[in-house]
Amino acid sequence: MDDQELIERLIKRELKFHELTRYVDASKAAELRRRALEAVTGHELREVGVFSFDADRAEKANIENLIGAAQVPMGVAGPVDVKGSYAEGAYYIPLATTEGALVASVNRGCTAINRSGGAVSSVMHDGMARAPVLRARNTAHARDALEFIDNNRTRLKEIAESTSRHLIMDDIQSWIIGCNIFLRMVYRTGDAMGMNMATIATDAVVKFLESELGLEHVALSGNVCVDKKPSALNLILGRGKTVISEVVLSREVVTGVLKTTPERMAELVYRKCWIGSALAASYGFNAQFANIIAAIFIATGQDAAHVVEGSQGFTTAELTEDGDLLFAVTLPSLQLGTVGGGTGLATQKEALQLMGVHGSGDPPGTNAMKFAEIVGAAVLAGEISLIGALGARDLAEAHQRLNR
Ligand code: NAP
Repeated sequence: MDDQELIERLIKRELKFHELTRYVDASKAAELRRRALEAVTGHELREVGVFSFDADRAEKANIENLIGAAQVPMGVAGPVDVKGSYAEGAYYIPLATTEGALVASVNRGCTAINRSGGAVSSVMHDGMARAPVLRARNTAHARDALEFIDNNRTRLKEIAESTSRHLIMDDIQSWIIGCNIFLRMVYRTGDAMGMNMATIATDAVVKFLESELGLEHVALSGNVCVDKKPSALNLILGRGKTVISEVVLSREVVTGVLKTTPERMAELVYRKCWIGSALAASYGFNAQFANIIAAIFIATGQDAAHVVEGSQGFTTAELTEDGDLLFAVTLPSLQLGTVGGGTGLATQKEALQLMGVHGSGDPPGTNAMKFAEIVGAAVLAGEISLIGALGARDLAEAHQRLNR
C-alpha cells in the first residue's frame, strides 16, 4: 500500500492508528497519522511534526500512536552549589516550563544558597514501592498467609531479585483489611526510577504466593503503592528517594538578596506552609515543590505524573542563635531515574548530561542518588525564593515584571 492508500484507510477507520507500523517505520507512521488527522479535522499539525528524537525508539519504549512532540520551553537556573554525598560542586538546573518567572525564581534562590555556602543535600531513604492486593478465603487464611510471608522473606527476596540485575528487595510491608491482603514491596532499583522493575519483580512474587498459598491475585497494584495519587502513606513512609536539602541563610543574604528578614521568612513558613496547609488538610507543607519538580521532570524525561508524590513534603525555617535562618526542604517521595523511561530521549538525555547524571552510575545507583541531591537543592532554591518574595511582598510585582 502506498502512503495515500494508508491515509485513506486511516480516515475511513479501516486501519487503526497502531496498525500502521506493520506497513511503515515509526517516523513515517507518525507523518501518516498527522496527515490523516489533518484531513479529518481540517487543522494543520505542522509544528507537532517537528522533533528530533528517534521515533522508532520512542514507539518502542515511550509512546503509542506517535504523531510528533509537544515542545516545552527549557530554561536553565543556577549553577547551584551542592554539598552532598554524591553531588559535590556547582550544577546547572534544566527547567522545562511555560510558567514565566519560575526559572528566575529558582535562579534567585540559587544565588542566596551559593552566597550562604551551598546546599547540603542528603538522600535519607531509597525505596520504590509496588503493592498488590490479594484475596484470602477469610481472615484466618489471611493471617496464616502473612505468617508464611514473614517466615519466607529470604525466598521471596530471591524470587524478586531474579527478575533484574539491578533490583534489591528491602521490605514487604503488610496490611489485612477483611480478607484482603495488601503487600507493599519496597525495592532499590539502581539508577532507574524503578516502576517497571518493581512491577515485574512483584508479579513474580505474587505468582509464587498464589500457587503456594491459594490466595487470589486481585490486582498487581492495590493502590497502597501509592503510585501517582496523593497519600499520607508516602508522606510518612516515603517512596522513591527521600531527600533533605538545607542551608543556613545568613542575615546579610536574606536582607541583601531576598530583601526581607529571617524573622519574616520563618513566620511566613509557619503561618503559610504549616497553619495554612493544616487548615487545608494538604500534604504539601511547602510553597512550590511541584513547580520545580514538574519543570525538572519534564526537562529530564521523568514520569511527569510523579509530581503528585514529589510535591508532597515539608519546608521548615528556623532562626539560629546567631540570627540567621536554617532553611530546609524535606521531600519524602522523589521518584526519579537516570536510566529507563524517558531519560534516553534526545533532549531529555542532554538535560541530564548537563548535570553529569545521564545513564548508569559507577557503581550503579550513584547517578540517581546524585540527581536526587541536585533536585533537592533546586527545590530548596525555589522555596527560598518564593518565601523570600512573599516576605518582601514582591510576588505580584515580579510576575508583572516578567510578563504576566
Ligand atoms: P525501565 O525503562 O523499565 O528500565 C529499567 C531497566 O534498565 C532495568 O530493567 C535494568 O535492567 C536496566 N538498567 C540498566 N542500567 C541500569 C542501572 N544502572 N540501574 C537500574 N537499571 C538499569 O525503567 P523503570 O524505571 O523500571 O520504569 C520506568 C518506566 O515505568 C517509565 O516509563 C514510567 O512511565 C513507567 N511506569 C510504569 C509503571 C508500571 O506499573 N509498570 C507505573 C508507572 C510508571 P535489569 O533489570 O536487567 O537490571
